Amino acid sequence: MKVIKTIRETREVVYTARRAGKTVGLVPTMGALHEGHGQLIERARAESGLLIVSIFVNPLQFGPGEDYSRYPRTLEADLDFCKARDVDVVFNPEPSELYPDQQKTFVEVEEIPSELCGRSRPGHFRGVATVVLKLFNVVLPDRAYFGEKDAQQLRVIEQMALDLNVPVEIVPVGTVREADGLAISSRNRYLTPDQRRTAPILYQALNAAYQALCSGEREVAKVLAASEAVLAEEPAVRKEYLEVVDARLMTPVTTVDGPVRIAGAVWIEKTRLIDNLYWKEKR
Ligand code: AMP
Repeated sequence: MKVIKTIRETREVVYTARRAGKTVGLVPTMGALHEGHGQLIERARAESGLLIVSIFVNPLQFGPGEDYSRYPRTLEADLDFCKARDVDVVFNPEPSELYPDQQKTFVEVEEIPSELCGRSRPGHFRGVATVVLKLFNVVLPDRAYFGEKDAQQLRVIEQMALDLNVPVEIVPVGTVREADGLAISSRNRYLTPDQRRTAPILYQALNAAYQALCSGEREVAKVLAASEAVLAEEPAVRKEYLEVVDARLMTPVTTVDGPVRIAGAVWIEKTRLIDNLYWKEKR
């Protein structure tokens, strides 16, 4: 496995692989790798001749006061994780490699980033879309893999690729959970043992809404009341949002008449957790 810090060397490796007729798969990550990332890597490994995992904590997608400086950085363990999964290249640039100058060009997707996480994290999805397009331009992958755990991010990237004719197939991968339902996340390591025990309440709340939809409820106010009741059982968990949104636009609906995502964000003290469930009528 090669660990590469520069754009130039990454391009060389990709060029050589392409000349040998290999397809190129990219899994963009911020490191602190866990089984969620593992699932993306495994899928990408099965479908790629050359598999590149990028590890880059992207300053552009963190707002002032967010956890950029304390975001977990565990490079040695991440490299072992990648090696064990037969990754070919880890692209791990310094911020100055991807941002050699003050960035003046940004990718701004409309509407999809406006609700959910976009409300409390202005500029976050602009930072995500911009760095992902930069990574695409460095690696020129045939396919890139993203988790449904970050469903709004996935939709932003799908829309960007569609709107800008980016020749990369965006492959969604389902959310990987702990046995108790908690979506695996790099930020779970901020939780104390007590907080970790209460954290699955978010998944349980989303599930209550999911069950309400399955029982035929279509009025979102009533669907969400089921979730709110679950969340209220844990006063230590503070709700940021709990919504039922159109699965493509990621904007709230009042009545469910097509595919939706039930999405939530909560705070457990200083730790912010997000999760979502996709729901569509079975016909
Ligand atoms: P991150 O390192 O948190 O930026 O995540 C890198 C990629 O892994 C993103 O596409 C995430 O959506 C995906 N991912 C993170 N956690 C999970 C999970 N529990 N299940 C599936 N994908 C995930």
